[in-house]
Amino acid sequence: MKFARVQTSIGPKYARLDENDTAHLLAEAPWIHLKETGEALPLTNTKLLAPVAPSKVLCVGRNYAAHAKELGNEVPKEPLLFLKPPSSILDPFGTVILPQQSARVEHEVEVALIVGKRCARVSPKEAASYIFGYTCGGDITARDLQRADVQFSRAKGFDTFCPLGPFIETDLQALTDGGSGLSVQCSVNGVLKQSGSTRDMVFNLATLVSYMSHAMTLEPGDVLLTGTPEGVGPLVSGDRVAMVIGGLSPLAFVIGTA
Ligand code: ZN
Repeated sequence: MKFARVQTSIGPKYARLDENDTAHLLAEAPWIHLKETGEALPLTNTKLLAPVAPSKVLCVGRNYAAHAKELGNEVPKEPLLFLKPPSSILDPFGTVILPQQSARVEHEVEVALIVGKRCARVSPKEAASYIFGYTCGGDITARDLQRADVQFSRAKGFDTFCPLGPFIETDLQALTDGGSGLSVQCSVNGVLKQSGSTRDMVFNLATLVSYMSHAMTLEPGDVLLTGTPEGVGPLVSGDRVAMVIGGLSPLAFVIGTA
């Protein structure tokens, strides 16, 4: 199934999308209760919001060996976790604002997992049952500030630095399917810059969920970003970015200045 979050006259609402892209409004987040209110809106003239409003966005760095290498880093022996603040989330088709403090902002495309139920200290085997669905995530990074600060909060935490969406899809087998993998791609102005596969992850999705859940409780609606393949590069004002993951709907956004 496919879910969106849309702006309505009474505030943000979750919705189930049917095959005609009509949004059927839900009474609650779909991971809580799948109850439709009976109201339906055509998606074409509806403001799309990021598909979830999480309590946290928990991320892993250097989870594709070739990407760790391109930045001159070792592949970590254990997942390297960091957080992006919820205030960094950008609605689909929005504008990433380049901060004045940075001269080098880069794109990172990542598979985003949406947590479906509270999750603490689960095994990799149990992990799949805690995941509600998948969407596209951007881990936009001020690379110069990341190097200067050593830790990542500022470099990856600016407003608009977490484009997310457009929809949550629940029918991907990525977590449990070790064989086929999902393609993970990012293009800038129509030129393919990043192209990887979840097969090339150092720590697979189930291992990551388990590892993360041993560090902190994952709440329903939390977003987990799972690392980026090689090919990261700079973004400038006016760039058009498209992130495409497996069979998910593509996430597009533009780059601008304040
Ligand atoms: Zn990243």
